[in-house]
Amino acid sequence: MSFKALNLSPNVLRGVDAAGYTVPTPIQLRAIPVVLGGGDLIASAQTGTGKTAAFALPILTRLGTHGRARVLVLEPTRELAAQVETAFRDFARFSDLRTVAVFGGVGYGHQRTELRRGVDIIVATPGRLMDYLKERTINLSDITILVLDEVDRMLDMGFLPVVKDIVGRCPRERQTLFFSATVPPEIAAIASFALRSPTRVEVGVARSVTASVNHALYPVAAEQKFELLEALLAKIDFDSVLVFSRTKHGADKIARRLKTANHSVAVLHANRSQNQRIEALAGFKSGKYEVMVATDIAARGIDVAGVSHVITYDVPEKPEDYVHRIGRTGRAQAVGDAFTLVTPENANDIRDIQRFIGAKIPELKLEGFPYRPFVARAPQPAPPRGGHGGGRPGGGGGGGGGWNRFGGGGGRGRR
Ligand code: AMP
Repeated sequence: MSFKALNLSPNVLRGVDAAGYTVPTPIQLRAIPVVLGGGDLIASAQTGTGKTAAFALPILTRLGTHGRARVLVLEPTRELAAQVETAFRDFARFSDLRTVAVFGGVGYGHQRTELRRGVDIIVATPGRLMDYLKERTINLSDITILVLDEVDRMLDMGFLPVVKDIVGRCPRERQTLFFSATVPPEIAAIASFALRSPTRVEVGVARSVTASVNHALYPVAAEQKFELLEALLAKIDFDSVLVFSRTKHGADKIARRLKTANHSVAVLHANRSQNQRIEALAGFKSGKYEVMVATDIAARGIDVAGVSHVITYDVPEKPEDYVHRIGRTGRAQAVGDAFTLVTPENANDIRDIQRFIGAKIPELKLEGFPYRPFVARAPQPAPPRGGHGGGRPGGGGGGGGGWNRFGGGGGRGRR
């Protein structure tokens, strides 16, 4: 089926054409008619399969035919707000609809001017949007379409109070759309304050990993993680690599060490200034940096063509973040590899991830890498009473069960 058959407006079809899209993706085929019909929607599809256009195109069509309705799209990160606003602007280039991205870390001046001038589509992160609501630069009384993108993140504990506040400021009579790659089944119950008899559209197996991504675990002792990262980078044939760290400090440290090893490296995390964040992402997109080290603020939605590899240096705390992280590669049907470095301490997290995605992740061993045996693997004498848990150097806590606690693959790479 072509985009033409989807009842999109001529201006929007021209925008689609200019974007180079010829065939709608499955989520677009299923979601666009629901959005055009005016109903509420909960939509999930794997990462990188065209969710942005699945809501942007029908929304732009509805705005075009329904007068000056206004749209609010909420996003969890600044980078995503900027990216989605750009997509709206691109698709809307043949109309006179006005869009603005509203997010923190940059000056208020430009955003405030745009908001005062009047816009049709606001793509915002909640914090900065609240600033404008409190100072009454804008009100949301004429919002007719509300989108919560990455909805599971928007409704988790950190965001929920401010999101509820924002939703409460929108008119009751409106259309509400939820989108994410990971929509937990119970979301409709959590979100009944926002939705009215939503249609549910699910493409692909819920929570699954895009078929075009090959993913694997690389077991390694904690103290050899960086060495293994370097060895992987030396061995693989990559275009761009995104490396995920659990902490901001860790990201800085990995980046420093990679720079010393002569890689061109960008760093993206929430402690960097917005200018640094913009420069890092732009440089990574343009190819100036071959590696970007990031925390989970880069895990969701960020669309960088040509990310050939995602390396999870630290296993994420939340299983859904694994899916989002590795979804940064294999986008728009490109292929990608996603490797996760795992230490014995990660056994429980890996088990949770495998349960979440409903599949076992294969374990691999890097040929030729000088794996050292894990510390404290040898039969140990009983720990001294009152000691510190056996005193494992290298932070062994909880690793006693070894690899077989991942549910298979037992003992590879460390005997
Ligand atoms: P998204 O999941 O919205 O981030 O989109 C992932 C990537 O797929 C982006 O680079 C989009 O530009 C691209 N894309 C989305 N829809 C289509 C389509 N129908 N045809 C070709 N590329 C698309």
